[in-house]
Amino acid sequence: PMGICPTATTSLLTDNFTGILRPWARPEVLTCTSWGAPIIWDSTFDPHVAKQEAKRQNLTIGLTVFAVGRYLEKYLKRFLESAEQHFMVDQSVVFYVFTDRPEAVPHMTLGPGRLLRVEPVQGESRWQDVSMARMRTLYEALGGQLGQEADYVFCLDVDQRFTGNFGPEALADLVAQLHSWHYHWPRWLLPYERDKRSAAALSWGEGDFYYHAALFGGNVAALRKLTAHCALGQQLDRERGIEAVWHDESHLNKFFWLYKPTKLLSPEFCWDLQIGWRTEIHHPRLLWEPKEYALVRN
Ligand code: UDP
Ligand code: MN
Repeated sequence: PMGICPTATTSLLTDNFTGILRPWARPEVLTCTSWGAPIIWDSTFDPHVAKQEAKRQNLTIGLTVFAVGRYLEKYLKRFLESAEQHFMVDQSVVFYVFTDRPEAVPHMTLGPGRLLRVEPVQGESRWQDVSMARMRTLYEALGGQLGQEADYVFCLDVDQRFTGNFGPEALADLVAQLHSWHYHWPRWLLPYERDKRSAAALSWGEGDFYYHAALFGGNVAALRKLTAHCALGQQLDRERGIEAVWHDESHLNKFFWLYKPTKLLSPEFCWDLQIGWRTEIHHPRLLWEPKEYALVRN
């Protein structure tokens, strides 16, 4: 069975949050990277072992989400309700909602050991600026209360909802999400930033996978490094009067090229129903909400 994943035997056997991984349960998909990080697909991990391990370590897991401007009314309530139902059930969880209108955050009844903090941020006139400003804000939050109370943190877009168990099997020091539209594309077609003047630039031949900025995670130290890197890259670009093609996502992809994630989540963890039916997608955990840009963007 190791033949499926010849370079990854070490991490395959020692990932505490997934138990003994079973990559051979999904022979039709890639279950490890060339640098030995597991790519977790449905039925390659044991959610019960993961749950016990997180309990044993007495972890607190943070979930950050931004809801600025019209994104708040449109998405936040369903996001939070579905997260309460499916995200890290039975663990200590802190939700961090960053918004320009703290008073409009819906009231939530949360289970024991779960709490919600609302953090004020300023609005931006362009949606791209809201999206990119998250890196700087997260960097600061990770250096403050969030970083003190959480061991691991997931940073998510608000325009999605949980539809299945999203538990400690997803935890690792640095977690990247395979982009559901691009996971089977040849590398030269991936929409990396190609303009060499940009801090996010990758040249032809660079890049491992195309990762989705709607979900990334890791331990606090790793995420401090990630958010610092991306915020700095964005600032350098701004000073040069340029902007990467996919904004914070381009910088995130550059970071993950330079600093390899230690776990990848399969597209089942952040799926878009618009793609249609795919045999390898067994159990979507998180689904994109329909893109209704006319309603939420200027
Ligand atoms: N966002 C927001 N208000 C805005 C623009 C963006 O709250 O005006 C946040 C929100 O969490 C959103 C994320 O930034 O999910 C990324 O933006 P968006 O989802 O529109 O980008 P896409 O997923 O289409 O690349
Ligand atoms: Mn989004």
